[in-house]
Amino acid sequence: MQISVFEPETLPFEAKTMVNSMIASVLERLGKVSDKRARNTSTGLHNTLSLSFAMFHLKMPSLLQFRESYSVKADNLRRVYGVTDLPGDVAIRGAVDQVDTAELKECFTDQIDFLRSHGIWEQRRVLDGRFTALSSDGTQHYCSNCKGCPQCLVKSHRNGKKAYYHQMLATVAVCPGKQTVFPVGCEAIVNGDGAVKNDCEMNALKRLLPQVRQAFGEQEPILQLLDALYHNGPCVQALQASNMRFIIGAKGDHYVGVQVKRLRDKGEMETQTWEKNGRICTVEYAQGLMLNGKYPDICVNYFSLSEVDKKTGEQKFYSDWVTDVDLDGINMEELTAVARSRWKVENETFNTLKNQGYNLGHSYGHGKKNLTTNFALLMLIAFLVDQMAMALDEVYQQAKKACGSFKFFWERVRQVFDMAPAKSIEAIYRFISLRKPLDIPPLE
Ligand SMILES: [Zn+2]
Repeated sequence: MQISVFEPETLPFEAKTMVNSMIASVLERLGKVSDKRARNTSTGLHNTLSLSFAMFHLKMPSLLQFRESYSVKADNLRRVYGVTDLPGDVAIRGAVDQVDTAELKECFTDQIDFLRSHGIWEQRRVLDGRFTALSSDGTQHYCSNCKGCPQCLVKSHRNGKKAYYHQMLATVAVCPGKQTVFPVGCEAIVNGDGAVKNDCEMNALKRLLPQVRQAFGEQEPILQLLDALYHNGPCVQALQASNMRFIIGAKGDHYVGVQVKRLRDKGEMETQTWEKNGRICTVEYAQGLMLNGKYPDICVNYFSLSEVDKKTGEQKFYSDWVTDVDLDGINMEELTAVARSRWKVENETFNTLKNQGYNLGHSYGHGKKNLTTNFALLMLIAFLVDQMAMALDEVYQQAKKACGSFKFFWERVRQVFDMAPAKSIEAIYRFISLRKPLDIPPLE
């Protein structure tokens, strides 16, 4: 039985598509990663990294399942992802383990440049087009009762048992009103970073910020959105050192709050009010406050947002922040929407990676060096390609629409990938968007 390979141009609609070039760019970068293994290794590193990326791009639940279904996928893996053969399990893990994580992160730089060349950063800038907003936060991506590798973080429970886990800090570009987020950097939080959670995340942030600045280049006006964990002097200094502006959550007791209370008591806080969706929204703000006594030279501005139900008078939302953005004449409705879009790193990034088919949290392996981090990074790059496709690729959008949920969409992609010879992922998306059955004669 002869099944022809899909030819996208024979299908009936013209749509803007760029997913193939995004994938080609990732595969090209993976081909440049240097091989740190002993010279006598038989498996090619490029092939192994392409295969690992394919596993995450196809949302395979485990390396084992990917390996077991390889024979069904082999021809499409070769055409779509350039995978030429299947190394043994130990060889795959060993090869990825040795890779310098910094080299994989160059994939972010390539995609940042790609987005710039399509004018996307300019389109998504916030606060009157002045800043590219990035949201950073940490997440746990593996946890077990057994020690997996020297990089495992350790948590002691009260009952004497220990938990071993991995965390990473990720930075994603966000924009209020846009569904998509673009990961632009990540940093492993590793054993030895600090005795308590705050130390760990702070030290990882200090390493991450210069990487993100370098990936974007000096010219990009960056605004970092961070939660209250980062409301401290060392964090603001690290942001300033990387020439980034900030909006940081201001929850709890802090010196800025003391100054705000004093101003409020004297009736010297500025306010602005508007109405939206049946709620009265009130912003209270003040400029030129001292961050705290230990860092008297760091000057911040403060703003809070309260939303009250117009009919019942019940408070529906309250939050406050510190920032180094000048609040004079600023659109407060936009400012608070930007500050609140910080949640996108949790809701639309980590939750999606954990619950929408990407399997963040599943152990793809520990290795001895960088395996857990490198696999998490490759997963994040696969997610970035999907998010970019969701924002920019009409063929992807049509295919996703034809399937409804992400879960069903990924399932369809895997089904078609396994059954139909295809030249590219775009051809698969295009076929799915047609909502037609595969034209194969009945099996006898
Ligand atoms: Zn580990």
